[in-house]
Amino acid sequence: MTEPNKKRIASLSLDLDNQWSYMKTHGNEAWSEYPTYLDWAVPRILEFLEQRNISITFFIVGQDAVLEPNRPALRAIADAGHEIGNHSFHHEPWLHLYTEEQLEEELAKAEEAIESATGVKPTGFRGPGFSLSPATLRVLKRRGYRYDATVFPNLLNPLARAYFFATSSLSAEEKEKRKELFGTWRDALRPVAPFRWRIEDETLLELPVTTMPLFKTPIHLSYILYASRFSPGLAMLYFRFALLMCRMTGVAPSILLHPLDFIGCDDVGELDFFPGMDMEAEKKIAIVDRVIEEMRKHYRLTTMQEHVDSAGPKLRNLDLQVAAN
Ligand SMILES: [Zn+2]
Repeated sequence: MTEPNKKRIASLSLDLDNQWSYMKTHGNEAWSEYPTYLDWAVPRILEFLEQRNISITFFIVGQDAVLEPNRPALRAIADAGHEIGNHSFHHEPWLHLYTEEQLEEELAKAEEAIESATGVKPTGFRGPGFSLSPATLRVLKRRGYRYDATVFPNLLNPLARAYFFATSSLSAEEKEKRKELFGTWRDALRPVAPFRWRIEDETLLELPVTTMPLFKTPIHLSYILYASRFSPGLAMLYFRFALLMCRMTGVAPSILLHPLDFIGCDDVGELDFFPGMDMEAEKKIAIVDRVIEEMRKHYRLTTMQEHVDSAGPKLRNLDLQVAAN
């Protein structure tokens, strides 16, 4: 047995997508009133993490940080010692269609809002809906970011999008804008392990959302929860197999969480179009707990920043064209 403090590092991050951002992507007009669940969902998530003594990274949406009802919850995240990351201002999954000037404005606005609400200037970024472009990475480098965490090397992306379109009421034009939602086939070719983007004569570290090494199927909590609806035993077996594959291939996992992993049909009714939103919160949280316990058998769980700092100097470099969707 290795000493607990000698364990390898794995990281956890949570994309703090709010109720309105799901409704916006789904095409529900009522999103524009910015319905929120942060005031009660964030305390629930913070309590869960505190009970387990884990610090993670929260990627925060700038728009939420300028709305007064959300600000105490966002401040509480920073006060609890978690890392604060930037998840864009408007949370538009078509961010890769923005020009470089629009991206500068979008990121600056988000940084300002997030810093004003939490007291922390973010140095890590994850694009909304895993939206990635060479221009975004250039802007991140210019603005002094230490890492990007948008890459999602997922073979099932086009299937996820097909499911999403089939259950939404979007017009042809709205679908066109969302045609790269959840990424493209090209995503599946990107590495699962951390690497560096080559940006002129500099580099920017990328910490991808871990998917199953070699198979590139998703292993983050939303998928495990969705699979649990059919068989909790098989879902856990799949996750344990993923961790085994990570150990065999030397990939330190970076696992993604969402607020909806802690929110059930007994909390919010309006999000029933989202997979897994037919489960009760208590049941979901019990599964999240099992997944985290499984990770802790092999790894010390920490923030993205610490994971990035521990990534060795021998990472491979990738050209920016690989970031084009
Ligand atoms: Zn998001």
